[in-house]
Amino acid sequence: MARKKVGLIILHAKQLVTARGHSHTPAVGSDMDDPEVLDDGAVAVDDGTIVAVGRTGEVLAEHSGTVNIDASNRIVTPGFIDPHTHFVFAGSRETELELKIKGAGYLEILQRGGGILHTVHDTRAASKIQLFQTCKKRSENILLHGTTTIEAKSGYGLTLEDEIKSLEIIKQIDEQGPLSLVPTFLGAHAIPSEYQIRTSEYVNQICDDWIPEVAGRGLARFCDVFCEKGVFEIADSRRILESGKRAGLLPKIHADELYPLGGAELAAEVGAVSADHLLYASDAGLEQMKQAGVIATLLPAAPLTLMLDRYADARKIIAHEVPVALGSDLSPSCWLENQQLVIALACYKLKMTPAEAIIAATINAAHAIRKAHEIGSIEVGKKADLTVFDVPDFRFLGYRFGTNMVDRVVKNGKVVVENGRLIA
Ligand SMILES: [Zn+2]
Repeated sequence: MARKKVGLIILHAKQLVTARGHSHTPAVGSDMDDPEVLDDGAVAVDDGTIVAVGRTGEVLAEHSGTVNIDASNRIVTPGFIDPHTHFVFAGSRETELELKIKGAGYLEILQRGGGILHTVHDTRAASKIQLFQTCKKRSENILLHGTTTIEAKSGYGLTLEDEIKSLEIIKQIDEQGPLSLVPTFLGAHAIPSEYQIRTSEYVNQICDDWIPEVAGRGLARFCDVFCEKGVFEIADSRRILESGKRAGLLPKIHADELYPLGGAELAAEVGAVSADHLLYASDAGLEQMKQAGVIATLLPAAPLTLMLDRYADARKIIAHEVPVALGSDLSPSCWLENQQLVIALACYKLKMTPAEAIIAATINAAHAIRKAHEIGSIEVGKKADLTVFDVPDFRFLGYRFGTNMVDRVVKNGKVVVENGRLIA
């Protein structure tokens, strides 16, 4: 029988890490430690879609590629997905590193008009074209490090006009590609200085005016809230997430990062897609998250850059059979564009295995942005978003860190990074 001609075959991968079998529901418990690793693996791609996955001999028996990529002595994974980024921001806050070194805490820096509010000032001041160019460059850095899809939050505008400016930039960059972006409205990121003693007025405005406007324009898929003591507490967070739901925006929540406020419980109550951070999540909260199907998105670079001694208890969360995803928390206070380093931090600081961390940065991350039906694993019918790493074993992800190990990135079936360089 004649072999079927396809656009692209990646063949002879030393290891092909498929992460398949979890597209319907995320991997939990011991399944997270089993991402399926095929030796001498191959993946055939046609018209942007994966059409065959298996050992090289099996795939070549039925398919021939117009383009063939030899991945000998390399590994292939699904393109990484970063399910938590504060992607749209102008300026930088390198001076805060010294404040942190001298012992200033996150909320203290915020109360002194620094932190988020400093970036709000810079982001409002940037023209749309300046902000677009900054973000475009950022999207290329992310892609160069093997990530093919991100969740991208607004949240440094904090006026309706400036939030819309940020969300429109996310849309523009997604449409241009190659990086895919899923937009999240985070008007409730901080209380802007002009509303400092009028939190409830600010919350009213978000619920009554901004959410309907943003949702009406189709500029966001998710609505997120920075639920934290002294910022948006439980009642305000509930109102914001419920308003988002009424407008068709799926809830996400920054939960129990710095203080045990009950964010995990609220995530379960409102049926959030994910609860993120969870350093202080209670056992009851985790149990409720499991029952409600809420994903725990862990962000190990956040406590690292806040110089905290505490990290999310990933072992306990996995033991509770709550699905775990991993994100960067990219922002001006945690400027990390590389999911490889997130995986390493998950191994060294959260005691996740490399296998669990890869699942958490691929298929479970896809669930955390409600895209698991089309990305996050190497299986037939999914979009061909693939990363080739110049390492001989998947455990190098985690083990080796600080260098970019990406050899190639394939996005929608097209090679967009080659020899570690953008070619798109
Ligand atoms: Zn965040």
